[in-house]
Amino acid sequence: MGQLERPAGLHRFRNNDKAIAIGNTFWEETARNGLSGIVANLAEGGYLQTQEGHRFLNFSCCSYLDFDTHPGIIQGAIRALEKYGVMDHCISRIRIQIPALLELENRLSSLFRANVITAISASAATAGVLPLLASGHFSGNRKPVMVFDKNAHFSMNLYKPVCGDETEVLTSPHNDMNYLEDVCRKYEHVAYVCDGTYSMGGHAPVEDLLMLQDKYGMFIYFDDSHSLSIMGEKGEGYIRSSIPGDLNELTIIVATLNKAYGSSGGCIMFGPKGRDVALLLERFGGPLAWSQPMNVAAIGASLAAADIHDSPELKRRQDKLKRHIDLFDARVASEQQGNGFPIKLVSASNDKVMAAGQHLYENGFYVSPVFFPIVPRDQAGLRVMLRAGVEESEILRLSQLLLDFGLN
Ligand SMILES: *Cc1c(COP(=O)(O)O)cnc(C)c1O
Repeated sequence: MGQLERPAGLHRFRNNDKAIAIGNTFWEETARNGLSGIVANLAEGGYLQTQEGHRFLNFSCCSYLDFDTHPGIIQGAIRALEKYGVMDHCISRIRIQIPALLELENRLSSLFRANVITAISASAATAGVLPLLASGHFSGNRKPVMVFDKNAHFSMNLYKPVCGDETEVLTSPHNDMNYLEDVCRKYEHVAYVCDGTYSMGGHAPVEDLLMLQDKYGMFIYFDDSHSLSIMGEKGEGYIRSSIPGDLNELTIIVATLNKAYGSSGGCIMFGPKGRDVALLLERFGGPLAWSQPMNVAAIGASLAAADIHDSPELKRRQDKLKRHIDLFDARVASEQQGNGFPIKLVSASNDKVMAAGQHLYENGFYVSPVFFPIVPRDQAGLRVMLRAGVEESEILRLSQLLLDFGLN
């Protein structure tokens, strides 16, 4: 009596009750075992140190090239603040912007061989781009059916309901090219949304995707946050370096500057019609329009990072990372063994994985355990992320501890 009826069609794309119940079970268990909520400072030699004096190396760190502690990048932030004397102009960039922001976008454009506009983060970039993609504003006003890969990052999935308000939204099984081709046969306009490199390991089958693009005119939105800087001659990432020549008008690549790139912010790479796309994003791209742009410290750090990406130091660090990946892969088995990427999910039984994580932590390594219910029971494991800036001896010690613990 008098009860409000629930509107039809709720929870088509997300369900917080379910997500929170699952997530809390995971986080409570992690916190109880002391593997979350850790407070630590940077100490000598790239170690982290808690207030109680426990020293450890972070092996679940996305700063794959250790640029986040690069003195040149830190100095870049300081220099820019001193030079401009302001954090930002506190007004949308549509109206007034700092010349250094345009300088940075030009630098990134030439590094990544694409038109580039920046955002305060990859998440903000995605928030700006996906709704406009759904409404057909990147595809000649023809709304595409949007297909999100099942394993697409949270930052993209968050916008499924928003996209679903503009067009039809589907979720494909992970990396399933047959599914995708069926959708392309069925619908005239399709836009696929995926990670270039996945946070839990693995990557998009870029050649197959480009073939589908060629054959059906499929639009592709890549979030390649995990491979920017670590791959490509100028650090343009796995996806950009897999696409010869210019980006076409059917491809957008978003990536964070917060991970291997070593500064703070996000970038959007796109092809021709540069000015049109940039204006559309600046005016209607959600937080790109209503939030502040990257602040001066982030711009200064990013310009310094661009200098490093344009120098031989980039390749030295990329090579070192590669050696570390090979060193680890030669000792420890994982589904990602030999794939050339730094993220390795080392399987462990669901019952054992937390104890393994604790054992490693006590021995000076932080590695995040993932277990049921955030992953199926048989997919539990330790998420090891390799880095350039650690000693080889530490990688050997970590590998040995994993083997001693009877993992894989
Ligand atoms: C880390 C990550 C993000 C978040 O990047 P921010 O710039 O910090 O918002 C987005 N997408 C993917 C695939 C990521 O791995």
